[in-house]
Amino acid sequence: MTRRRRAVQLPLPLEVPPLPAAVRADLRTEVVPGWTGRAACASRSVDPDWWHAPAGDELQEVARGVCQSCPVRRSCLAHALATGEPEGLWGGADEGERVWMRLALAEGTRVAAVLDPTSRTAAA
Ligand code: SF4
Repeated sequence: MTRRRRAVQLPLPLEVPPLPAAVRADLRTEVVPGWTGRAACASRSVDPDWWHAPAGDELQEVARGVCQSCPVRRSCLAHALATGEPEGLWGGADEGERVWMRLALAEGTRVAAVLDPTSRTAAA
């Protein structure tokens, strides 16, 4: 299996401030109770190690594809952002991407815009 790397990896900021309590509360409202029971990555047809592959690794890209079609992607990402999950792919975002998301949230970007960046209504 060939492995490819993403072209651009922005350097991570040295310090990420904690999210304001109100933002964490907003994130928690996006987490559907029992979401882990519907997780696509819980299927026996996938390997959990894919979610811990290095950024840009082909296996991580496979995991991202699973996340994109996962019925609980928003809950998963909201949980990871609210709790500060330090590693792995959650909701289709790796740890570095979540750092930038947390910074955006800390600076006032709406939760919906972060969870659904391609949605016009979410960014409104
Ligand atoms: S979004 Fe990805 S990591 Fe989260 S539950 Fe679904 S498949 Fe698993």
